[in-house]
Amino acid sequence: MTASIDSFGALGLSEPLLAALADVGYESPSAIQAACIPPLLAGHDLLGEAQTGTGKTAAFALPALQRLDLALRDPQVLVLTPTRELAIQVAEAFQRYARKLPGFQVLPVYGGQGMVAQLRQLQRGAHVVVGTPGRVMDHINRKTLRLDTLQTLVLDEADEMLRMGFVDDVDWILEHTPAERQVVLFSATMAEPIRRIARRHMRKPQEIRIQARTATVAATVQKYCQVAAPHKLDALTRVLETEESLDAALIFVRTKTATVEIADKLEARGYAVAALSGDLTQVLRERVIDQLKQGRLDLIVATDVAARGLDVPRISHVINYDVPYDTEAYVHRIGRTGRAGRSGTAILFVTPREMRLLGTIERATRQKIEPMALPSRAAVADRRVAQFREQVEQVITGEDLAFFREVVRSLVSREDANLEEIAAALAFLAQRERPLQLPPAKGPDIADAARSMRPAPARSPSRAPAAKLAEGGALQRYRIDVGRQHQASPKDIVGAIANETGLSGRNIGRIDLFDDYSTVELPAQLPAEILELLRRTRVRQRPLGLRPLTPAEAEAAVKAKPAGRAKRAPAGKPGKAGARKPAAKKAGRRGGG
Ligand code: ADP
Ligand code: MG
Repeated sequence: MTASIDSFGALGLSEPLLAALADVGYESPSAIQAACIPPLLAGHDLLGEAQTGTGKTAAFALPALQRLDLALRDPQVLVLTPTRELAIQVAEAFQRYARKLPGFQVLPVYGGQGMVAQLRQLQRGAHVVVGTPGRVMDHINRKTLRLDTLQTLVLDEADEMLRMGFVDDVDWILEHTPAERQVVLFSATMAEPIRRIARRHMRKPQEIRIQARTATVAATVQKYCQVAAPHKLDALTRVLETEESLDAALIFVRTKTATVEIADKLEARGYAVAALSGDLTQVLRERVIDQLKQGRLDLIVATDVAARGLDVPRISHVINYDVPYDTEAYVHRIGRTGRAGRSGTAILFVTPREMRLLGTIERATRQKIEPMALPSRAAVADRRVAQFREQVEQVITGEDLAFFREVVRSLVSREDANLEEIAAALAFLAQRERPLQLPPAKGPDIADAARSMRPAPARSPSRAPAAKLAEGGALQRYRIDVGRQHQASPKDIVGAIANETGLSGRNIGRIDLFDDYSTVELPAQLPAEILELLRRTRVRQRPLGLRPLTPAEAEAAVKAKPAGRAKRAPAGKPGKAGARKPAAKKAGRRGGG
């Protein structure tokens, strides 16, 4: 894209919007903003391909705001987002950009939020509604959201919405909008199901594509650290202690259980930390994010699902404690740092077995991930001593020490010791709570162990399980103990599996529902810890009891006619099967938005 336009003024935006942008401190438009704002102001449909962190929200919100008739209190803009978190963020962004538009109203609507409050606010009128597809459908059905005055419909993170199984809902909503509306679609990829939506519902869309290397990725230093699984926690605390310019860090792990476990351990070591998982209610989740923003928390341990869309500029570091399941998850994770033009650091822990994944990620992001030595015991001690010295200096310059000088003088005369000895004794006392040195190691130190590990063989994406997942390979069928008679829907099942394991939708394949059980395709060779988790995970109050199908069962399942089938996109080819209408699944996915 030509980035020659370097001021918002040149894009045709109105005075109140330019004033608001000056207020929020945006100096110049990002590439996608420069490319999208003029055609959107002119009323064109638009198909935009851009990664996270490129500034898409302002790209669609600014022109939408300019085209509003504020005197009309009916919804004129509807934005669909895959998650509630994103709905809230987009609504907040609208509010920020509209601060000089008196009387402007934006309303986020999403599942899990009180229906009554939403209804009241809808009745009062809103110019812009932002919501998840499920809840928006509910409101259209109840006639509490009328779309006859709709001018613009925005599909934000369309690929994510489709991956989460919202394809039919999105179609349905589009069909319920007036014929003469503008449709704007943003997606990180332009896979076939996205193009299909575009063909069906858009009129000669302008296509805008921003090269994959995003500002966010460029502003993020990426490093990896080879560390054996049992040493990860120690490695993490060493990194947290020694990283320069660490303000707040987001630590990614694979499971909900691990979020809590690691947060507890970090808390025990004195960190202001919280766990963030799909388990938290929306209220608690927002509280955690607020506390992070305000600096009352410095560390968050999260799963991929829970951290989706998180945007806190303070996050200086993303630590991939467990490797992500695919490169896309990796890009999403590191996109949580280096926000708003700041620089960020992403550190990836890899066990020797996982080394091959590195090459896959490097190819996908077209960026090098530099090796980083695990901080040694001496480095940690140096850092602690430096901090101690700083504290001492602050006390010398900032405190009234008259009384304490007298105490020291009396120690010198009574103990017959010199000042250096006395000071050393006092330093010893001062560090008892938090020793300046690490406790002596039992075996070789973990930093040395990491260094002496055999370098992994040539980075080939072909064999490592994680790399296989990344390329969308090998799915296998598993059996779960919930079926039609338990009122389970494919969306419930996908939701529970994704939430519990952090597996992304593209690693969850076809789901067939039978009367009292179902089959689901998941990556072959799931690690034992994940199998165990999914045995216990509940859907509709029933444990899934997940286990691989035996060959005989697999054969029987192929012959049996599923009670209700829902084909999801096979990994790597999102949505190919999604084009076919699932038989009876609408009811199930409606509530979830
Ligand atoms: P995306 O939706 O593409 O992931 P966002 O719209 O969430 O990106 O923007 C990412 C971050 O960049 C936000 O913190 C936003 O406030 C900031 N931002 C967006 N546009 C600009 C700009 N022109 N100048 C400075 N910061 C910007
Ligand atoms: Mg966005």
